[in-house]
Amino acid sequence: MLYYSTNGKAPLATLEKAVVKGLAEDKGLYMPERIKPLPKEFFDNIQDMTLQEIAYQVADCFFGEDVDAESLRRIVYDTLSFDIPLVKISSRGLYSLELFHGPTLAFKDVGARFMARLLSYFSPQGGGQNGAVNVLVATSGDTGSAVANGFLGVEGIHVYVLYPKGKVSPIQECQFTTLGQNITAIEVDGVFDDCQALVKSAFMDEELNAHMKLTSANSINVARFLPQSFYYFWAYAQLKQIVNCKLSNCKFVCCVPSGNFGNICSALFGKRMGLPIDRFIAANNANDIFYNYLQTGQYNPKPSVQTIANAMDVGAPSNFARILDLYGKSHKAICNDISGATYTDEQIAETMRQCLAETGYQLDPHGACGYRALQEGLREGEVGFFLETAHPAKFKQTVDGICGGDVAIPERLQAFMKGAKQSVPMSKEFADFKAFLLRK
Ligand SMILES: *Cc1c(COP(=O)(O)O)cnc(C)c1O
Repeated sequence: MLYYSTNGKAPLATLEKAVVKGLAEDKGLYMPERIKPLPKEFFDNIQDMTLQEIAYQVADCFFGEDVDAESLRRIVYDTLSFDIPLVKISSRGLYSLELFHGPTLAFKDVGARFMARLLSYFSPQGGGQNGAVNVLVATSGDTGSAVANGFLGVEGIHVYVLYPKGKVSPIQECQFTTLGQNITAIEVDGVFDDCQALVKSAFMDEELNAHMKLTSANSINVARFLPQSFYYFWAYAQLKQIVNCKLSNCKFVCCVPSGNFGNICSALFGKRMGLPIDRFIAANNANDIFYNYLQTGQYNPKPSVQTIANAMDVGAPSNFARILDLYGKSHKAICNDISGATYTDEQIAETMRQCLAETGYQLDPHGACGYRALQEGLREGEVGFFLETAHPAKFKQTVDGICGGDVAIPERLQAFMKGAKQSVPMSKEFADFKAFLLRK
């Protein structure tokens, strides 16, 4: 299958090129040429399938033409080695899909793990560092940990995580500095923007690119974004099992806490493949760009504002271009499938306290946006689930401060915190970073 650019000015790309390059030459986002619907039998039997079986069928629609069946099956099964439970929150037909049971306790794990394995599939020569693909990633915290853990131990790939010295929380820092193996953490004497500038300069440097294969693990990569559609098929399969209503009368609603809109966009791909979810709610924090677009038809990106749900602090959602493209740029068609919500930090905190008091369920600040939007938006006769995108322990200080409790830190996170920190100190000068890479 070939991939086109949402900007329409770049040549069609193979899957391999789309995965290795990430962004098209015209700075557009790659879209698959076709979205194959899944057959009726698949949806009839989905409740009896495992997460991995479902994900394989979905992955086959996207990648089956370009990756042999056995390899694709291995990639899917290796990626999904943890649980994604659907938890009942209230008797009103409201469920939480917990996407935080992966290695770094946040939903980006699945995309990162899948991408690592697909990239490795396309670069099997691997071995020594010269044959290896080198992934450069700048992080202010969360992306670095998901990418580093997703790529950990994957053959033929070396990852360099650049992060700003002293600007990353200790819990986040230990998730990418204690790994070793094929992960190198680089502690830059500067701010996040300096890290990003170093990565950008590296991609543009001819000498460096002649010396080593460089690529990014950006969240807009099709290999990170498309696999997120697995969640929605899996949620539907579980709902089919547990919801006691005649399915033909039952309307399903899905609410997604959104920042760059990659996650919800993959859900919309699922709907296009036949997934019977009636409508979607995009829940935002105070960054209300998409919400405003739904209300007015005007898309006005603006600088992001800081909130307590900081993984959603995005002022120009990168996947907006994909949503527009999917709906033929029709505002009306988009509003038909998606509604929006936006919440202040005050409201997020209030929601976390209220949900805990009424249901005993501890939300994290991101999931809280989803829970509230679903609770406010769910109509008579509908059953809904929201995505709980991070474990509350990932935001322990905030969560404990708001709810007055003491959220337990899962063992996996504790294990990171016991590891020894290893990182390479680096100035913010590109010449230093380049010299370091040239020695590799
Ligand atoms: C990345 C992230 C989001 C937002 O997902 P998008 O795909 O960017 O919309 C929400 N919650 C958490 C915890 C995240 O890490």
